[in-house]
Amino acid sequence: MGRSGQYDAPRPSGQQRAAATNDPGGRSDSAAVRRNNLSLVLRRLHDHGPRSRAAIAAETALNKATVSSLVGELMARGLIRETGRRVEGVVGRPAQLIELDGAGLGVLGLEVNVDYLATYATDLAGRVLVDRRVSFDAVAVTPAVVLRRLAGMGRSALAAMSRAGARPIGVTVAVPGLVDVAAGQVVLAPNLHWSDVPVGAQIAAALGVDDVPVRVENEANLAALAEYWQGAEAGTSHLVYVSGEIGVGGGVIVDRRLLRGADGFSGEVGHMPVDPAGTRCGCGRVGCWETTIGFARLIALAGGDRPIDPSRDPEERLAEVVTRAAAGDARAAGAFDEVGRWLAVGAAILVNLFNPKALVLGGYFARAADRIVPIVTRELTRLALAGDAAGCRVTASALGFDAAVRGAAGLVVEQVLDNPAAVSSSTGATSQSA
Ligand SMILES: [Zn+2]
Repeated sequence: MGRSGQYDAPRPSGQQRAAATNDPGGRSDSAAVRRNNLSLVLRRLHDHGPRSRAAIAAETALNKATVSSLVGELMARGLIRETGRRVEGVVGRPAQLIELDGAGLGVLGLEVNVDYLATYATDLAGRVLVDRRVSFDAVAVTPAVVLRRLAGMGRSALAAMSRAGARPIGVTVAVPGLVDVAAGQVVLAPNLHWSDVPVGAQIAAALGVDDVPVRVENEANLAALAEYWQGAEAGTSHLVYVSGEIGVGGGVIVDRRLLRGADGFSGEVGHMPVDPAGTRCGCGRVGCWETTIGFARLIALAGGDRPIDPSRDPEERLAEVVTRAAAGDARAAGAFDEVGRWLAVGAAILVNLFNPKALVLGGYFARAADRIVPIVTRELTRLALAGDAAGCRVTASALGFDAAVRGAAGLVVEQVLDNPAAVSSSTGATSQSA
């Protein structure tokens, strides 16, 4: 799939039909039509649940013979099955219901972050097989050590997938930095101190699964997609996601598509210069947005003369700040106020630029939503040019720290929904070139 792949496109509806019976083009056109039609049928079942061949034909405006042929091919690839239940047809004998299968096909998301590693695996039907996050100081060791450790977690996840009867069909690695998606290379990840790391090749080699494609993506872009696909704002066509971790990343969905920019580097909102008199950022510049709202800033503001142990899991450190604030610790409560005000400063820029219907706050912002969301909402009304008229909801991610790694797994599912023919009938692995 190219860098402008279709996985972030809207779920096609019935209008997006391809006329399989009326193909004036050559063989490549007819292969493309076939692929689109396979995608159309599979998405129908994925998005709307079990239905008969006749219902699929009616809803997609494909003819019944074409639908029967497409259903046969999708079954052969292990993607769908007959439920064994029947519904009364309009005429003739009762019709078999078809449903998404995919229990035998597994997708794996991996995530490197500054202070943790994560794995998340599901089967194609969405059954969660692995959901694991471990504290890990990724800055203290070399990229090779980080990737070996992540691949070790990946191998454990693949073993769990195998025990559940699912074969892996794709892996996505989420990384907080600029990613050359086509090359599988992390160009620059300031908070990890990485530059030009061939993450895709190293993970693929260490996982030892030759025929399973490994893709590398920016973590905040994946989180934005996860929010759009399955979060509290699922389906919101104009959405901005901002993650609160050590770094601050962003993903922008405009008109149902992930905004990538010319080189795939868009969404680096954490490095918007908002405070020229501020502190130095991990990227080397001064006053980036993430120096004012990143997790390290919250911990520093809240800790004061009672520092919070940096070796603890980020969730535990956050819980400590929340507990202190609830107990009346003015410094901890003030830390949330300060972060909330700076959050609104950058959020106003994003709202002025993109006019989103929802601003989804992820990472630690979501875990502390009770304290942060009201401040951001109030300040945003004051700071955005359109004020209340901007109509932008500020919401907390329901996916929290898991958003990126869920998006990583979800991306593989989307790729299959876009191109079911990439899943081979024999091995269940996807083909990179399909
Ligand atoms: Zn910066």
